[in-house]
Amino acid sequence: MERDQLRDGHGRTIGDLRLSVTDRCNFRCQYCMPAEGLPWLDRAGVLTFEEIERLVGVFASLGVRDVRLTGGEPLVRKDFPSLAAMLAPLVDDLSVTTNGYLLERDAKALVDAGVNRFNVSIDSLQRDRFFEMTRRDSLPQVLRGLETLAAFPEAHPIKVNAVALRGFTEDEVLPFARFAREHPYEVRFIEFMPLDGDRNWDRDKVLPGDELRAAIHAVFPLEPMPREPSATARVYRFADGQGKIGFINPLSEPFCGDCNRIRITADGKLRTCLFSVGETDLREPLRTGASDDDLERIIREAVWRKELKHHVNEPGFVQPLRTMSAIGG
Ligand code: SAM
Ligand code: SF4
Repeated sequence: MERDQLRDGHGRTIGDLRLSVTDRCNFRCQYCMPAEGLPWLDRAGVLTFEEIERLVGVFASLGVRDVRLTGGEPLVRKDFPSLAAMLAPLVDDLSVTTNGYLLERDAKALVDAGVNRFNVSIDSLQRDRFFEMTRRDSLPQVLRGLETLAAFPEAHPIKVNAVALRGFTEDEVLPFARFAREHPYEVRFIEFMPLDGDRNWDRDKVLPGDELRAAIHAVFPLEPMPREPSATARVYRFADGQGKIGFINPLSEPFCGDCNRIRITADGKLRTCLFSVGETDLREPLRTGASDDDLERIIREAVWRKELKHHVNEPGFVQPLRTMSAIGG
């Protein structure tokens, strides 16, 4: 039975759940994870497929229609396409964010399972620079994965995400603009956020989306497209009609005002903001016989307290203990 839509205490309706299926990853991106990895969650502590299915069912009954599966790297979780097949019937939109390394193997199974949107993360189109950023020499493998996915029209439009870092991305921006013009991919640049495992984030390393946009516009003129409600990206089309490009500017142009997102970590903690310093445990209630009504009450109370906005731009900002890969970006 459909209940009242999930809302927070600031009048925002919550309809988008990002669910991490693992904190593990086969890459070690500089802006996310240390070279040696992180202390992984104990496998017994990670939600099972059945627990995830039950939670998604409860969220769907509260009006959550969009679910994005992420990680860590979601495709390293064993039998991940089977999990996608369990969840797809519960929601309108089931999407996956991946580094693309295993897409050549899994794209078909994921599309068949009902995943209808994909974000593939690529920070450089040059092999040596891709290696430098991800600490893996895997650009050819990732591009093969992207092509395998692109062969499925149901998976379009495919989004390609690049984290923008000062001193690195300036040289990538025009090759990515050409890539977006020549392929059916919407490339989106994401500002570097203080969620890295090495805790090396520094304001000077943030490359604001406006700078990238101006660099592209000088060569390939851009026209703004209307912003969808609750969207993270500001999307532009190339004035000659060939392709689109987007900018996710959480620091220079925060979009907290109409944020409709919440997150669940691989160990079942509900987080109401990427930058939350507190979280609400759903795993223990799940494992100790909570009813759906009990879960609904816990979720509603936590979501009601969703943060009004992030405080990254304010003095005294505290980086959350969990890093991006442990939260589920
Ligand atoms: N492993 C998958 C991937 O890389 O797409 C999914 C998880 S990853 C944490 C999700 C997204 O977060 C990726 O697009 C990644 O580039 C981005 N990301 C990771 N750390 C970030 C940071 N410190 N600032 C901004 N974006 C970050
Ligand atoms: Fe892994 Fe994604 Fe983090 Fe890179 S950004 S280390 S691929 S979780």
